[in-house]
Amino acid sequence: MTDRQPGFSTLAIHAGAQPDPTTGARATPIYQTTSYVFESVDHAASLFGLQAFGNIYTRIGNPTNAVLEERVAALEGGTAALAVASGHAAQLLIMHALLTPGDEFVASKKLYGGSINQFNHSFKNFGWTVVWADPDDLQSFERAVSPKTKAIFIESIANPGGVITDIAAISQIAKRAGVPLIVDNTLATPYLCRPFEHGADIIVHSLTKFLGGHGNSIGGIIVDGGTFNWSRERRYPMLCEPRPEYNGIVLHETFGNFAFAIACRVLGLRDLGPALSPFNAFLILTGIETLPLRMQRHCDNALAVAEWLSAHPRVAWVSYPGLPGDRYHNLAKKYVPKGAGAVFTFGLEGGYDEGVKLVSNVKLFSHLANIGDTRSLIIHPASTTHKQLSDAQKVQAGAGPDVVRLSIGIEDKADIIADLEQALAG
Ligand SMILES: *Cc1c(COP(=O)(O)O)cnc(C)c1O
Repeated sequence: MTDRQPGFSTLAIHAGAQPDPTTGARATPIYQTTSYVFESVDHAASLFGLQAFGNIYTRIGNPTNAVLEERVAALEGGTAALAVASGHAAQLLIMHALLTPGDEFVASKKLYGGSINQFNHSFKNFGWTVVWADPDDLQSFERAVSPKTKAIFIESIANPGGVITDIAAISQIAKRAGVPLIVDNTLATPYLCRPFEHGADIIVHSLTKFLGGHGNSIGGIIVDGGTFNWSRERRYPMLCEPRPEYNGIVLHETFGNFAFAIACRVLGLRDLGPALSPFNAFLILTGIETLPLRMQRHCDNALAVAEWLSAHPRVAWVSYPGLPGDRYHNLAKKYVPKGAGAVFTFGLEGGYDEGVKLVSNVKLFSHLANIGDTRSLIIHPASTTHKQLSDAQKVQAGAGPDVVRLSIGIEDKADIIADLEQALAG
């Protein structure tokens, strides 16, 4: 071996993994155990005091999950990561480490609908207030920042409308405010976009989508960029004040550029408890091995379908940043040059009834509420996920009566297009 830096595809297969030292197993084993035998009383004491790294109990860490954590940290270019039970659990643990009751955070209002609900409603019970800003109006982020602001949260490619967010510009606003920028990189994955290179401090993923990639496991991950100076800001008690339960250590002083990942593990995951099953970690790791191949195919297929739909007489509009005329095309060239992802929306001339007919007529596409599967997926938000909203609210959420969302899979693109063709004709 030379000391050259491995490329992305090599890291996707090898980062974090070694043959099992006991058995020689080449694939990462599923360590299906709750707990781990201590070498001695002193060993146990040093593990509990955070003086040594090691396994105690699978709620706090597991060797299969550790390989997944190292791998995603390597792919994103971060210092450390923490895998948890879902994308939403990851978001909760991030905010739990950063905010105390009465604090605020600023978030893009173009986010995954589940995140909008989590921020608006459940986070209220923790005393955390979201202040919404518009990614198409950078000044609105500036205006939303107050002395109580502790973080800014955006998505790289926003679900579902194909909004590309200007990460570098918003990172400048975060730096001026002295708060970390959190980027949900679920739709892009590190294959398409590496937010740390554009000024993000923390990355979060739903592993459920393209990273796992096969529609079989829920998971989430937090990646620490190691870039934020917690001690300088001193506004983050979890990281900057002595921890009584760990002999008074200050996490940022002890763990330096991976203190944030440690805080999420030894405080958030330990006490809130959303641990990832090692079986899910194994499936997601297997998925990640083919991430570069799958993402390129997803993007190539999505562009072909978007072009085909743009020329279809029953289609009113297509919102895909990979198309040259799209309003986000220039941002896409900067942030996602290899492809604009596989999730996008389009509008039908016939409105609501036509949308219902389309999702009823498809055969290859699956009509369901998920994205990032090998299979092509379709949903008509107005008659499903957004049915409870008023018409005005639907339009505001990008889920008007004519809107259809696709997550393009990695089947043969001719088959994907043929299915849409017969469903639109039917
Ligand atoms: C699905 C999704 C989430 C939530 O992840 P879960 O694994 O379903 O909890 C968060 N952000 C984005 C962009 C998503 O697509």
